[in-house]
Amino acid sequence: MTPQFDNKLALITGAGTGIGAASARLLAERGARLVLFGLPSPDLTSLGEELGAVVVEGNVTIQADVERAVAAAEAAGGAEIVINGAGIMLVDDAADLELGGWDASIAVNLTGTMLVCRAALPAMLERGRGSIVNISSIAAFNASPGSASYAASKAGVVGLTRSIAYRYGPEGIRANCLCPGWTRTPMSEMEMRDLAEANGTSIEAEFENASKRNSLRRIADPVEIARCVAFLASDESSFVTGATLMADGGARSPATSHGR
Ligand code: NAD
Repeated sequence: MTPQFDNKLALITGAGTGIGAASARLLAERGARLVLFGLPSPDLTSLGEELGAVVVEGNVTIQADVERAVAAAEAAGGAEIVINGAGIMLVDDAADLELGGWDASIAVNLTGTMLVCRAALPAMLERGRGSIVNISSIAAFNASPGSASYAASKAGVVGLTRSIAYRYGPEGIRANCLCPGWTRTPMSEMEMRDLAEANGTSIEAEFENASKRNSLRRIADPVEIARCVAFLASDESSFVTGATLMADGGARSPATSHGR
């Protein structure tokens, strides 16, 4: 059965592009009302117009911006669903990483997720219900070279989510993590562009190469990840909390990790 949202309000961060935007479209299609929060961009503005959503421009690392987004959601009736999609990916390794990059990864991916959860939880607790979906990454479990700060921040998101789930479950709040593998979005396109430049190849060749490293031998379309978001956000997953759903095309299977 398709999860229906029956006019429920969802606050989505990082909503202007990629997985956040695909989730916004799918939830809207399935009857949700939306507050879209993200860095100012034409994408965010036009998506808000397309979906008739409330748009809040801001930065997840700035507490006042996050509080503005949650206040906008409260003014619209209160968010029963929070989806933390805002994220950045920087390439670095432990031996020589730049502290500035490390700080930025942790600030956006982990602290930003925490700030949104922290701001949204009191009203959810007052209502006695809420569903939080935090977008982590396969990198939280299967970190590759070049992902030191990203993998660390995304592993932190898993821990934060489980802590919220176990602390607030008795009060009607569910919190789950979704860990996508390679998904075709502006973020992955930027990574592939960098790889293509470094390897003297093309973006498509790098996507092709990445697709060989999972069981399904392809990259996800954002809507495939959005369907997982919708499942975790909706009552279809009413007995699921503290869970980590891997949506990685089987990227952790032993056969693919040996390059066969
Ligand atoms: P994306 O770049 O399209 O989306 C990230 C969004 O976050 C953008 O709209 C960006 O503007 C927004 N954002 C960045 N910093 C922000 C800030 N400080 N405040 C507010 N918004 C901010 O890429 P995506 O692939 O759709 O990423 C969505 C989430 O999925 C991210 O958390 C990412 O780490 C995760 N993820 C992506 C992949 C993939 O292959 N694309 C794989 C695993 C996990």
